[in-house]
Amino acid sequence: MRESASKRSAAARTSAAKTGAAEKETGAAQKPASTASAGKAAPAGKAAPAKKAATEKAATEKKAAPAKKAAAAKKAPTAKKSASQAKKSAPAKRTSAKRAPAGSVAPLVKKSAPPKKVTIAPKKATAAVKGLAPAKTVAAEPPGGESRTALVRRARRINRELAQVYPYAHPELDFDNPFQLLVATVLSAQTTDLRVNQTTPALFAKYPTPEDLAAANPEEVEEILRPCGFFRAKTKSVIGLSKALTEDFGGEVPGRLEDLVKLPGVGRKTAFVVLGNAFGRPGITVDTHFQRLVRRWRWTDETDPDKIEAAVGALFPKSDWTDLSHHVIWHGRRICHARKPACGACPIAPLCPAYGEGETDPEKARKLLKYEKGGFPGQRLNPPQAYLDAGGKAAPPLGAG
Ligand code: SF4
Repeated sequence: MRESASKRSAAARTSAAKTGAAEKETGAAQKPASTASAGKAAPAGKAAPAKKAATEKAATEKKAAPAKKAAAAKKAPTAKKSASQAKKSAPAKRTSAKRAPAGSVAPLVKKSAPPKKVTIAPKKATAAVKGLAPAKTVAAEPPGGESRTALVRRARRINRELAQVYPYAHPELDFDNPFQLLVATVLSAQTTDLRVNQTTPALFAKYPTPEDLAAANPEEVEEILRPCGFFRAKTKSVIGLSKALTEDFGGEVPGRLEDLVKLPGVGRKTAFVVLGNAFGRPGITVDTHFQRLVRRWRWTDETDPDKIEAAVGALFPKSDWTDLSHHVIWHGRRICHARKPACGACPIAPLCPAYGEGETDPEKARKLLKYEKGGFPGQRLNPPQAYLDAGGKAAPPLGAG
């Protein structure tokens, strides 16, 4: 199981070079749930969260012995400072341990290996990516009284846990090239990725290039796009951006943020989906799931997507940004839903300050989990080739293991 999970993980990382969640700048697509996570997802009645938290706490405290006062230091932590800060601020873990009572959560991830040493180096993380850097500013003080060091550790721990639950996380839109991903992402506003995946084959068969789509008869395109909803506006957008690609970029999708956001109907979120998944450039996709979850986890209190992007980007190395986006969005679609988060079946309950916002009874919570479609993780009708090459196979539904 582990081996296949790691295979999937490898596949996912490869495929993660591709897509991400693709709701348009406004879209909130709910999807079914998944796989390997399943097995991890539910063994009821095991009280791991509290234990886990205790293990972590012990590990943290072990490191954190000296210099209580030094913890007050404001910045540029040396290793010692970090440790003392961590001690002072351990409340995050303590809190979650309190809130996620033993036995009430069915942990998906059992490993209680001591937390890896985390490099707490927001310096690297805050570094701007040329041309697409989000972070202008970084939240000086984390919300909730947690120290910055503790926040960074907790955030990275959450990401690691989610990577194990969703080792195959990848963009859920089918695409073969940047143009297709760009169009599919625009179409995904206010509808599901599955619906888009069912619609785009006909569109790209008839209009395979930007030039073809730019010259298309809008009424014919509208007919094809009708199932996606808002089909008139979407037709206008995809024809408009195809014209812009043809006239301004030689028929190629540009690989720079500043160029992408000039295209009609393309905002930062869509641009980062394309950059991260079609060009392999790190990007954080702040969609509706991402916004909701990072606030629940108290990674930031910001509400503006650009500020969220900056604050969260500062917690992780750039190299993590694209996969992080997939993990968060997959978790939002499958477990941590907007209205009924399935806290009782959540693998990261011990790390979550919002535990209890949703159903905590493991049995009831499992019923809230969303499932995969078509036997493959996610909503792709054509799973990424890298995923298949790495031995990817149909995933059991969450909670089935
Ligand atoms: S709020 Fe979301 S992340 Fe937190 S425990 Fe509940 S389901 Fe998990």
